[in-house]
Amino acid sequence: YADFFRPRCDACDELIFSKSYTQAEGSNWHLKHFCCFECDKKLGGEQYVVRENPYCLACYEILFAKKCGTCGKVIAADDKRLCYKENFWHATDECFHCSNCSVSLVGKEFLPKGSNAYCSAKCYKEHRGQ
Ligand SMILES: [Zn+2]
Ligand SMILES: [Zn+2]
Ligand SMILES: [Zn+2]
Ligand SMILES: [Zn+2]
Repeated sequence: YADFFRPRCDACDELIFSKSYTQAEGSNWHLKHFCCFECDKKLGGEQYVVRENPYCLACYEILFAKKCGTCGKVIAADDKRLCYKENFWHATDECFHCSNCSVSLVGKEFLPKGSNAYCSAKCYKEHRGQ
């Protein structure tokens, strides 16, 4: 009846007999089995991101991170972001503003056109006309 008393590791499907183990994502894991899917770094006590499998932040940024359409820098997993279809931006005034008049669009309605965003149809027309 060990099953009843002992948590089962979600990675190797074996019972966990050691006193310390990781509880994450609604499952239990051997400390050594809750690790980054890419680089095998142990994630117990670390920051991580789950995309079907767990990843350390460094690998997550390399594998999945989106680049900001304005500044071209990677949007870190814990940065606020805005997205529209395939386009991503940092959710900051510097990175998410009207491509024509530069007014901040964070938290506002906007008009997306490709990797640009506009505050109004007027700005879109003006920008295109340049
Ligand atoms: Zn295990
Ligand atoms: Zn990793
Ligand atoms: Zn940016
Ligand atoms: Zn504008």
